[in-house]
Amino acid sequence: MSVNQQAHAGPPYGQPQPGYQGYQQPAYGGQSLPGVPQSQYGAYNGPMPGYQQPVPPQGSLRAPPTSGAPPPASGASHPSGHLAYSQFEHGDVQNGIPASAAPMQRPPAPQPFLPGSAPTPVSQISTFQQYGPPPGSVQQLRNHMAGMTIGGTAASAPPPAGLGYGAPRPPAMPGPPLPGQTVPAPPSSQPNHVSSPPPPPPPSTMAGLHPGPPMSGLHGPPPPTHPPQPGYQMQQNGSFGQMRGPQPNYGGAYPGAPNYGSPPGPPPPPKRLDPDSIPSPIQVIEDDRNNRGSEPFVTGVRGQVPPLVTTNFLVKDQGNASPRYIRCTSYNIPCTSDMAKQSQVPLAAVIKPLAALPPEETLPYLVDHGESGPVRCNRCKAYMCPFMQFIEGGRRFQCCFCSCVTEVPPHYFQHLDHTGKRVDYYDRPELSLGSYEFLATVDYCKNNKFPSPPAFIFMIDVSYNAVKSGLVRLICEELKSLLDYLPREGNMEESAIRVGFVTYNKVLHFYNVKSSLAQPQMMVVSDVADMFVPLLDGFLVNVNESRTVIASLLDQIPEMFADTRETETVFAPVIQAGLEALKAAECAGKLFIFHTSLPIAEAPGKLKNRDDRKLINTDKEKTLFQPQTSFYNNLAKDCVAQGCCVDLFLFPNQYLDVATLGVVPYQTGGSIYKYAYFQLETDQYRFLNDLRRDVQKEVGFDAVMRVRTSTGIRATDFFGAFYMSNTTDVEMAGLDCDKTITVEFKHDDKLSEDSGALLQCALLYTSCAGQRRLRIHNLSLNCCTQLADLYRNCETDTLINYLAKYAYRGVLSSPVKTVRDALINQCAQILACYRKNCASPSSAGQLILPECMKLLPVYLNCVLKSDVLQPGPEATTDDRAYIRQLVTSMDVAETNVFFYPRLLPLTKADVDSDSLPAAIRNSEERLSKGDIYLLENGLNIFVWVGVSVQQSLIQNLFGVSSFSQISNALSTLPVLENPFSKKVRSIVDMLQGQRSRYMKLIIVKQEDKLEMLFKHFLVEDKSLSGGASYVDFLCHMHKEIRQLLS
Ligand SMILES: [Zn+2]
Repeated sequence: MSVNQQAHAGPPYGQPQPGYQGYQQPAYGGQSLPGVPQSQYGAYNGPMPGYQQPVPPQGSLRAPPTSGAPPPASGASHPSGHLAYSQFEHGDVQNGIPASAAPMQRPPAPQPFLPGSAPTPVSQISTFQQYGPPPGSVQQLRNHMAGMTIGGTAASAPPPAGLGYGAPRPPAMPGPPLPGQTVPAPPSSQPNHVSSPPPPPPPSTMAGLHPGPPMSGLHGPPPPTHPPQPGYQMQQNGSFGQMRGPQPNYGGAYPGAPNYGSPPGPPPPPKRLDPDSIPSPIQVIEDDRNNRGSEPFVTGVRGQVPPLVTTNFLVKDQGNASPRYIRCTSYNIPCTSDMAKQSQVPLAAVIKPLAALPPEETLPYLVDHGESGPVRCNRCKAYMCPFMQFIEGGRRFQCCFCSCVTEVPPHYFQHLDHTGKRVDYYDRPELSLGSYEFLATVDYCKNNKFPSPPAFIFMIDVSYNAVKSGLVRLICEELKSLLDYLPREGNMEESAIRVGFVTYNKVLHFYNVKSSLAQPQMMVVSDVADMFVPLLDGFLVNVNESRTVIASLLDQIPEMFADTRETETVFAPVIQAGLEALKAAECAGKLFIFHTSLPIAEAPGKLKNRDDRKLINTDKEKTLFQPQTSFYNNLAKDCVAQGCCVDLFLFPNQYLDVATLGVVPYQTGGSIYKYAYFQLETDQYRFLNDLRRDVQKEVGFDAVMRVRTSTGIRATDFFGAFYMSNTTDVEMAGLDCDKTITVEFKHDDKLSEDSGALLQCALLYTSCAGQRRLRIHNLSLNCCTQLADLYRNCETDTLINYLAKYAYRGVLSSPVKTVRDALINQCAQILACYRKNCASPSSAGQLILPECMKLLPVYLNCVLKSDVLQPGPEATTDDRAYIRQLVTSMDVAETNVFFYPRLLPLTKADVDSDSLPAAIRNSEERLSKGDIYLLENGLNIFVWVGVSVQQSLIQNLFGVSSFSQISNALSTLPVLENPFSKKVRSIVDMLQGQRSRYMKLIIVKQEDKLEMLFKHFLVEDKSLSGGASYVDFLCHMHKEIRQLLS
């Protein structure tokens, strides 16, 4: 049977690829295919160029303002368009103001989110017709962005050769002075204390931090007036600089964090570690970019450590999955569990099965083995992959995972060449590539039935707050055009996804939008205790067929509820309604729920306000992260069984219990978006961008993921947004291209250096056109008997991703302090083990970090200081629950920038080049009051303006003549025709395009109230909530390590 065979007639899903003639390559949505009209929205997986066109807040007025003012007197309670109502059982007809005679309760006025910014009255609604430039421009922009160096270094002078952390260095010879021994100041280019003849150079350079004389003898004047050389000179021989050894001077560095450091001693002496002499994230990132950014990463070799996530690189699949799909904490696994335990280095993989790829890379090929389905091992059921060994002239193959020998099915037989390789090796993706897809047979489908295409159901809160803020009108306006951009498969002309609409407050309104109707019909279900769907025919429809009825409905919804006084909402019945609708239609799908308040109305899943900040730092703090009822867990389970994924858009003006409302989205593989104190004028652009991306992005439904491993290790723990009903299968009602699952592995036997270790991640899912598929990712790792090999092949960014997720789950069951202490302890053990077993003999007082982990302390400190583990004064209970859930599905690039934000000096940007200004370290002392900086962490973009910034720069960027006139209520930068404004806006757009969510832009003026919020993200500094500075934390880690070693 040919792999080229199509299971059924129909448009091919992709074009033939060179080398794989006839293989179908799934092309999702906007993937650009020659000759195929390009969606104006651009590719789902690229930056969304169309959305980056800033639309001035004063866009053309489409609809009269209806919100922001008290509801008009009720002459307009009958909308102009008329719905045909139909009474249904307990339902009642609803039109405008509900029959409730209760006096209208005015909800509290929304408070401005940003202290210092006055609430802006909502006055008008901008329309968003600008979906994107014509295809040509899309491509242009994409090329333009591809050519940009992300965080490039072009604008900054590269550090002198040999000074960088990542650059090859002389053999590391920490050879420390004994404590107290005076070290003469070295000549500027000489190592400061090289002693014995260098040992064979280890690939990983060691770095030492050792006790010794005060630093003043070794360092020049403090850095501000100097380029960073003085500090870096120390590192040429692998040491970071000098600090005092066991003395209590860093006890004082931890105010408010009594669990750290020594008991309070005398006031700390003024001498402290020079920040320039300790490992710099910026330098590591830059070095990796310079060293590894130019060559493609070819995946043919086992156990290769990929470039950092912050490096722009292309991937060539030659038998292992791209690091865009799988990244590991280490690419060299200890052979025994004893070694693994000794090192304490967690063995984990961060897997993003449906990751988007840059346009230059090829999506996984789709292999069709016809009715017999994919070839698998008889015993462990692993899928055919490049590591299977064909034997007996090709008649059988030995499984690389369990060693079982399986007959090759006759249709799959092929001769072997003289090396034992099948002669069709290069013609079959499953024999030569790390990632590919199989078309699944009916055996892989629920109830042995091929699935129907999925459905999207839009469920809009129409209570008082939602209507008054202008949100309802905004959503309805947007949906009119957005529905034309539902995900499509390959070059299909229209999306197979059907849509349905529900509005709700205390009751639910279903809409019949059948194409044959002249007007939509509304059906009200007020019995929310036992939710059912009052109509089957006409609820889920094809957008094109029902276009006019849908448009009419979306016009009418804002009018119908314009005068509502209903402030209460239900929540669980809304999900139940969506679930029931999908059940009735026998399909999977996604619910898009737009919700504003704590669901206090009498209904299943009703919640009470239980927010209590007094619980912070007590043993009961964990309850703030736990759902207040198990009702939603059960509901989530039902949703997963049906393939009903929930995406939740929240618009709270006060506490609404994200920890509980988030349970269903979280366990169904959905997303949560939160817009606190939503104001149309400032927040609509961000919300609409998120909504557009969320609706369009690639998503698989009814997904089950299993990770198989070769003998010796197995997957034991999983982190992410999913549900598990057994110990091996990760179930997700929906899985989109941004969602990541982190998997931890443990030994169950010995591994061998010869055979290494293999992972195979198999994801079974239903595509957006309803096709059942298997996506396979394979990765081979090395195994070692020497701990040094483990430490040489680690990836700290991935390690931090795992540790953060592990800790963020820990807060559900343990006091936050316990979680923090455990994190510190584990990292101290990791570093102590290295020190003891891998580093050259040296003074016990010296801190020596493995090259690949030298950023572990700084990044770990960022995790410890994050709002979940140590809330800042601004962080609400909902914020913390939200962040906790968000981080749990983040990939490595997202956790990296989330915990250590990117800080760019905008005033140093070269307006004539495409590059970004060189990033600087996240510390206030790096900021100059004459400059403007941008800080981004994946959720927010801050633009910080120093008090002494030149007036011309202020004029060029903000269009005002002085610092005092800059408004920090701006949510976008004004569009001004000058090079600086253009450059800064292009940087902002580019950063927005790299992230899965549209970041909130916040203008911060130096010495302004908002600066406190900004400083929270300067993570190398001591935080207001008591988090340690980087320097202090490094000293603390050093002490912990010394204790473990003694
Ligand atoms: Zn097997």
